[in-house]
Amino acid sequence: MPWTVDRGLSTINNQSKSYTRMTIQEAQQTVDQWIKTNGVRYFNELTNMAILTEEVGEVARIISRKYGEQSFKESDKEKNLEEELADVLFVLICLANQTGIDLTEAMKKNLEKKTKRDKERHHKNDKLK
Ligand SMILES: [Mg+2]
Repeated sequence: MPWTVDRGLSTINNQSKSYTRMTIQEAQQTVDQWIKTNGVRYFNELTNMAILTEEVGEVARIISRKYGEQSFKESDKEKNLEEELADVLFVLICLANQTGIDLTEAMKKNLEKKTKRDKERHHKNDKLK
């Protein structure tokens, strides 16, 4: 498994790659700094929502070809899942930053909600056995 969670920090532990750890908060700050120095300003929320949808579509295109029944066209072969997932994350972080959302807190709350709601539900799901 390429991703591991170590004391609340995410690390990539891949055979050939190792990266410096980046917390979600650091990712939000890094994207903000990048936008201010390279991007001039954030695209507005509606534009970023459209870009997020585009990027999710690019992920879906790769997944449908790699894990689904679609075949790769010559033009699809250069597409890279890692890169497209990072594109999704980047624009998702832009949307969080420009709407004042602390994704660390949001994730904590979300995981608590999911744990409460789904803990038993998934264990009782025969389809998962
Ligand atoms: Mg992309």
